[in-house]
Parts: sequence; structure tokens; C-alpha cells
Amino acid sequence: MTDCIFCRIARGEIPSYRLDETPRLLAFRDVQPQAPTHVLIIPREHVASSAAEIGAAQGELMGELFELAARVAQREGLTGGWRLVTNVGPDAGQSVAHLHFHLLGGRAFAWPPG
Ligand code: AMP
Repeated sequence: MTDCIFCRIARGEIPSYRLDETPRLLAFRDVQPQAPTHVLIIPREHVASSAAEIGAAQGELMGELFELAARVAQREGLTGGWRLVTNVGPDAGQSVAHLHFHLLGGRAFAWPPG
């Protein structure tokens, strides 16, 4: 998707604060952080608009994504724990239709979330 904002970030057409990357994934800081650490992890390719479209075919990619999340969390020093969230649809507050996960940490979070 040529005009998708996260596709454009992945292609380097829009600047981002990159923390880590692999051939298939990218981790960069959220511009409107909701926690001391707020990192977005995306597949470079527009494989899905949200987690609702993910299935077994993306199993290996999702495994890589969890590995990357743990690596970034460790590097960010999130020894107290961290949260990995993906929003699906308007009720969840999804604003970008390119599969992405929010890695949040650096403070305690309420459960259940508000
Ligand atoms: P969601 O609301 O779950 O779809 O998450 C989209 C996230 O993307 C929001 O937290 C935004 O702050 C973030 N965001 C939007 N544009 C950018 C950008 N250019 N660079 C970094 N983060 C962005």
C-alpha cells in the first residue's frame, strides 16, 4: 500500500526513530508516547491491516515479532515488565490500518486497561 503511513516509514520516506530492525520487521518510537517506553513494531510489508487478518500463514513472522519485542524491551531496560498491545478497529482505538504492536513499559499499567 503505497500511501499507508507505516509502509512509508518502513520505506524510509517518513522519518522515524528506529530502535531495531530485521529484514521483515521494524521497531521505532511512537510519536505520541503513552509511557516512558512506547515502541511500535511493524512488519515492513503490509501483510495485514490488523491482527484480525493474521493466521497460521504468518506464524513465523509473528514469532520473529515477539523475539524482537523481547529484545527491544531488554535493551530499554524494562526489567519490571512490559505490555505488548495491538488494537483492532475503532472501539479499540486503532488509527493506522497496518498491523502493528505497541510495546509499552517504564511504568506500572492498570489491569484491566481503561
Ligand atoms: P493505533 O492507534 O493502535 O492504530 O496506533 C497507531 C500509533 O501510531 C499511535 O500511537 C500514533 O501515535 C502512532 N503514530 C502515528 N504516526 C506516527 C509516526 N509518523 N511515527 C511514529 N508513530 C506514529
